[in-house]
Amino acid sequence: MTTDAPPLLEVDDLHVRFRVRRGVFGGGSYTVYALRGVSLTMRAGETLGVVGESGSGKSTLGRALLRLTDLHRGTIRLEGQAVHALKGRMLDFRRDLQAVFQDPYASLNPAMVVADIVGEPLTVHFGLRGRERDAKTAALLDRVGLAADHLERYPAEFSGGQRQRIAVARALALEPRLIVCDEPVSALDVSTQSQVINLLQALQASFGIAYLFIAHDLAVVRHISHRIAVMYLGSIVEMGPAQRVCDQPAHPYTEMLLAAAPVTDPVEQRRRKALRRKLPASELPSPAEVLPGCPFHTRCAYATDICKQQLPSPSPVAGGGWAACHLLPAAG
Ligand code: SF4
Repeated sequence: MTTDAPPLLEVDDLHVRFRVRRGVFGGGSYTVYALRGVSLTMRAGETLGVVGESGSGKSTLGRALLRLTDLHRGTIRLEGQAVHALKGRMLDFRRDLQAVFQDPYASLNPAMVVADIVGEPLTVHFGLRGRERDAKTAALLDRVGLAADHLERYPAEFSGGQRQRIAVARALALEPRLIVCDEPVSALDVSTQSQVINLLQALQASFGIAYLFIAHDLAVVRHISHRIAVMYLGSIVEMGPAQRVCDQPAHPYTEMLLAAAPVTDPVEQRRRKALRRKLPASELPSPAEVLPGCPFHTRCAYATDICKQQLPSPSPVAGGGWAACHLLPAAG
């Protein structure tokens, strides 16, 4: 990954809203503010980890980039192309942005054999047929660690890890520049998780693919990511190099996520236990509410009066990146 190349992905002020019905028998509807002004850039060959609690907006961000959800406002550019402006069938023919989801069984057609699951996009997008398509499909399976004799089998005949490899092969078939990985290893056991992570890293090294890697497991995200974005109530509240964000979190919400993450080191366990005692236990506020001030002030152990009134701006953090918190010195 080079840092002086132009951005691969540029997201600016992205907003997503949903109207939700209150009940089956009427009662009106309300608005969920799922993304509230997300801006970020990614470079070719980079992995940006996205973490946050359930309801933080991290999966909505992935779906918004893939245009699987309507955008309320904002722009998405991939290699300068205005992805936010694509409509109808133009969206179906996108190759450069692909996805791997948590449950490969749900995303792989159970009635298709692997040869067709991986080979169909080769026909649709590159016009490959017959032996040419078979050879390319077999090569893709080999690239993800599956054998050619898997080609005529159905998804149900594979383990969870193998199904995820099939999903990766299908995404890879289209030679994407960026893959949105939404909890891609959460359903797998620990040893299978590391095999799939190693595979993703090897593919990145070979093809320069960028990953937006969405996960709740901070240890996994730290391992695979170059940078991490921390999301809270539809906004990014901290972003920076993975090691700095995990070792020296600047935002109290990142600190809270880290304190809740399991660790094996007994010294670190004691430190996190002490940290948890310091932090107030509370639930994520409703994403239908727009609170004044800092969105985290209702749960923050360090909140002061200004936090309830004024939205903090991003400030640079020593060691790289930024965080949006009034505790930090304002950007000069
Ligand atoms: Fe906590 Fe205030 Fe910082 Fe928000 S701005 S995270 S409430 S200290």
